[in-house]
Amino acid sequence: MQPSLTAGGSRRLLKRLRDLMAGGGSGQERLNQVVRIIAADLVAEVCSIYIMRAGEVLELFATQGLKQEAVHKTRLAVGEGIVGDIAAHARSLALADAQSHPNFAYRPETGEEIYHSLMGVPILRGGRVLGVLVIQNRTFREYDEEEVETVQTIAMVLAELIAGSDLITPEDTMRADLALAPARLDGLRLNEGIAIGRAVLHQPRVSIRQMVADNPEVELKRLDDALTSMHSAIDDMLAASELAESGEHREILESYRMFAEDRGWLSRISEAIRSGLTAEAAVQRVQDDTRVRMSQITDPYLRERLSDLEDLANRLLRHLTGARTAARADLPDDAILVARTMGPAELLDYDRAKVKAVLLEEGSPTAHVAIVARALNVPMVGRVKNVLTRIEALDPVIVDGDHAQVLLRPSDDVREAFTAAIEVRAKRQASIAALRDLPAVTRDGVELSLFLNAGLLIDLAYLEETGAAGVGLYRTELPFMLRSTFPDVATQTEFYRKVLTRAAGKPVVFRTLDIGGDKLLPFLAESEEENPAMGWRAIRIALDRPMLLRHQLRALLRAAAGTRLDVMFPMVAEVAEFDAARALLDAEIARCRRRSEALPSTVRVGTMLEVPALFWQLKTLLRRVDFISVGTNDLMQFLFASDRGNPRLADRYDVLSPPALSFLRELVQVCGRAKVDLTLCGEMGSRTLEAMALIAIGFRRLSMPATAIGPVKAMARSLTLGPVRDYLTGLCDRPEHSLRESLRAFARDHDVAI
Ligand code: PEP
Ligand code: MG
Repeated sequence: MQPSLTAGGSRRLLKRLRDLMAGGGSGQERLNQVVRIIAADLVAEVCSIYIMRAGEVLELFATQGLKQEAVHKTRLAVGEGIVGDIAAHARSLALADAQSHPNFAYRPETGEEIYHSLMGVPILRGGRVLGVLVIQNRTFREYDEEEVETVQTIAMVLAELIAGSDLITPEDTMRADLALAPARLDGLRLNEGIAIGRAVLHQPRVSIRQMVADNPEVELKRLDDALTSMHSAIDDMLAASELAESGEHREILESYRMFAEDRGWLSRISEAIRSGLTAEAAVQRVQDDTRVRMSQITDPYLRERLSDLEDLANRLLRHLTGARTAARADLPDDAILVARTMGPAELLDYDRAKVKAVLLEEGSPTAHVAIVARALNVPMVGRVKNVLTRIEALDPVIVDGDHAQVLLRPSDDVREAFTAAIEVRAKRQASIAALRDLPAVTRDGVELSLFLNAGLLIDLAYLEETGAAGVGLYRTELPFMLRSTFPDVATQTEFYRKVLTRAAGKPVVFRTLDIGGDKLLPFLAESEEENPAMGWRAIRIALDRPMLLRHQLRALLRAAAGTRLDVMFPMVAEVAEFDAARALLDAEIARCRRRSEALPSTVRVGTMLEVPALFWQLKTLLRRVDFISVGTNDLMQFLFASDRGNPRLADRYDVLSPPALSFLRELVQVCGRAKVDLTLCGEMGSRTLEAMALIAIGFRRLSMPATAIGPVKAMARSLTLGPVRDYLTGLCDRPEHSLRESLRAFARDHDVAI
């Protein structure tokens, strides 16, 4: 006989479970009944429940079918055996022949050797694994997807029973080993800055009072109403957002609204309602699934999209239950938001004046929420493992975005040190702001041009704020990365036009798409590469897919009609590549002429120098380009054959070393003789000591993030060029691994503000 797992059957089973939960008896007694009911209903010879105890151990709490002596005796560590594997990965397994599974761990006390097939699902609550629900059969039974889903729904209802019972003691909860002692956690820097404040848990659990519903139609209607009110709330937010002005943030929010209408997501919720859950339980059920899927996905783009869905699910839950978010609850003035993940709209929900920093268990630099945090200037650290289990609401926290670290419950002296650091930073920022209108010129009168690196419309506001001479590097790929489809020529034109309008006459160097490597576009998915940094990226993609580049160039030409256009190509390795890219630009210019479209008044064409090979074709190249921009981020990784993303190599080679500086010095000299503008736009130029060395070897144009312009200008204004140039000339032929300490000592001795 096959089990009755139709929607109707599942509803009946859920109702029986609900009645049982509402009835009397101890937690253990109820659990014993639960396994009996489930086994009978699913026609399984065995149904067992394992519950997670302190120390990450899964203990057999109740069973129908296995030997009763094993109850409270059989224990498996997380990761051990099939049950441990299910808990470790928070994923379901359905095996027709469990004993041949490599993780099968035989426990003689259970008598399970006679059962062949096994299906286990994690019992999840709030993204945490509370236990594992297992059914087993003697036969080699193939459990189908629908059966697995039904058992998952049952597991969700069980999670509430377990959490609300006396079955697990406080020590068993995940917080068991949470010491209230100070702790330091490392993460990934998503936005710089330091903040001291109190933890606010972004997602206080929405408690669901009723899991099982009597009438699916009523629940579907409730879902519908909640969706309507959620949509109008998102619309209001779109209209009111302080970022509504800038195009790409609007885009983020709009793509987010699109998710709210995502058919697949909504139909999965409706299905869960039809199987017998209340609307809120159905949302949570689908959300649990999403979390599990998220934990298994490595593709950063997909992960972010799933986290947007998670954000929506939370929103929907609040509309269904009337629960308030931390955003609307009383927020302390020094809130440090802590979340597993957070959508961009959720961050915008908070009172900006009260949010001092954000901590996430997940998150990546390309996450929408990180982009919004940067635009709002809120320090943010991501990938802080288990922060939610180690922190309590209102715990004192220090977030050091600069060093990607978090200090929980810091001692007084640590707190004092950071308070001092914040003061120093504030003073420094104030004195730097005062430099805005002063020229970047050394003490001995050598003038420098400092440019801004930008990638979002909102970055252009910094042109005015920092007094930068223009945008030295506009990374056009960033707006592309925020979109779910490839923008057409008209959309791109409008976008570039906005960039130029905001630059208000200051020059902007547009770099054509630098995609591939770590910059993935959702709509240009390619197979994984072994060596993405040296793979099919940037100009290589553009030359193989010329229409991509032609459309972009067409949009740039149109956007700059009547004014000046500066355009450069990324990752050019040889002159022939530059020529091929240039030919596409010429073809687009010719096309404009043929159609009598207005052209830019001047078109300046350049290239990035990021691949060492190009250096040995400089003479030929310099006859063809109007300018060159050195991308030291990539250049140094290729010069030293040292992956820029590999943390083990982060300090292995120094850009302030004889080979790196000699290479750059020669480049400056050759470009100088040819009278071709040379700018440096890699991160190297944004650090004061490095900038000092670069000026000493002859660089006069540096392009950097907004936050670096003030400090670099302050350094330059305290520097006398003559002595440092002479000093460095002597150093470049030395055998040292690094010249950093020597240069630092020089700066100290000569009062250079590094
Ligand atoms: C560089 O490589 O130095 C550069 C500026 O380009 P990106 O960091 O965008 O690769
Ligand atoms: Mg680069």
